[in-house]
Amino acid sequence: MAQTQPNPSSISEEASGLEEAPGQLIVLTGPSGVGKGTLVKALLREHSDELFLSVSATTRSPRSGEVDGQHYYFFSREQFEGAIENNELLEWAEFAGNYYGTPLRPIEERIAKGERILLEIELEGARQVAKVFPEALRIFVLPPSMDELERRLRSRGQDSDEAINRRLERAKVEVDAAGEFDVTVVNNELTVALDSLRSLLFPSPQVAHS
Ligand code: 5GP
Repeated sequence: MAQTQPNPSSISEEASGLEEAPGQLIVLTGPSGVGKGTLVKALLREHSDELFLSVSATTRSPRSGEVDGQHYYFFSREQFEGAIENNELLEWAEFAGNYYGTPLRPIEERIAKGERILLEIELEGARQVAKVFPEALRIFVLPPSMDELERRLRSRGQDSDEAINRRLERAKVEVDAAGEFDVTVVNNELTVALDSLRSLLFPSPQVAHS
């Protein structure tokens, strides 16, 4: 599978202002099928006024129920390559045959306002974010096992066998890189994984003892 690397120098020039900004960038990564989307949805439901999800651009076709501008911005390959050329993306990568990337402008705007933004992205993108924005909190979600990951990918019935096999291949590489992240969370039981993320992102204030 081709794994194209963006030119980090052009990205760091464009995104350099982010380092000074008052907001927080949170990167959530983990293999396809691990349950990132479900965890993110639950966190956003609970903290809709404190946490914002970045809407990515992709060249993948919409799945049933996915809405342009809400789940993704669905781009043609030409549009996506134009966005790369014009340095409109904070990071981008090719994953399982499609481009995925984070539009830079909304991130800059929200970070400048002091907001907290969540990026749900794959490994290569997370590595690029770490380079241009080292202050970002990077979290990796692990499956309890590779067998369980395969079971989840197959049971959600969203992708062809070929796409699932590509995602599983990539999952092995991603899981091996979990140690690069600030925090790892195993998504065995959804409620337990969600508790870990909650206490990481929204720690309860300490009760002062006199
Ligand atoms: P899916 O096709 O299942 O929606 O996403 C496939 C993979 O692409 C997931 O691991 C997801 O986290 C990742 N992804 C989604 N948006 C982005 C993005 O903007 N940048 C990068 N690098 N990966 C993304």
